[in-house]
Amino acid sequence: MTIERTFGIVKPDAVAKNAVGGVVDLVEKTGLKIVGLRLMRLSEPQARAFYAVHKERPFYGDLVRFMTSGPCVVMAIEGENAVARYREVMGPTDSKKAPAGTIRGAYGTDIEKNAVHGSDGPDTAKAELAFFFAGLELA
Ligand code: UDP
Ligand code: MG
Repeated sequence: MTIERTFGIVKPDAVAKNAVGGVVDLVEKTGLKIVGLRLMRLSEPQARAFYAVHKERPFYGDLVRFMTSGPCVVMAIEGENAVARYREVMGPTDSKKAPAGTIRGAYGTDIEKNAVHGSDGPDTAKAELAFFFAGLELA
């Protein structure tokens, strides 16, 4: 049994539609624990750096604008296999293809405005947690 931590964001579209509680509820119902939670607005440099891996993609500019369009909630999430289990409850990137029981199925709109971010592997999770929770005590 390996207890892992992963990193999530409730994106501006989901915060704007008062879905923070709904997202947290789905995360908790999968048996994962929220061990860090913080409401913040991403600066443009932060959003650009966070999504730097996509900087050559055609959607990068729009993505940075979307992620800075309003407040986000950043989350540290813990549990057995947390990275994969949180990705599973998020659903696929395209909200239109996301099953109803997933976060993106419930709260996402399309392939860009898809309600949540989740780290895609244990190494990215460590880096992303450090990026947003450095110096903050996790539960
Ligand atoms: N995205 C987009 N258009 C695309 C693909 C992705 O706007 O064609 C956005 C979307 O918000 C997504 C983010 O870019 O969540 C990062 O893309 P990635 O492929 O890493 O998807 P994720 O890991 O979030 O499922
Ligand atoms: Mg990704």
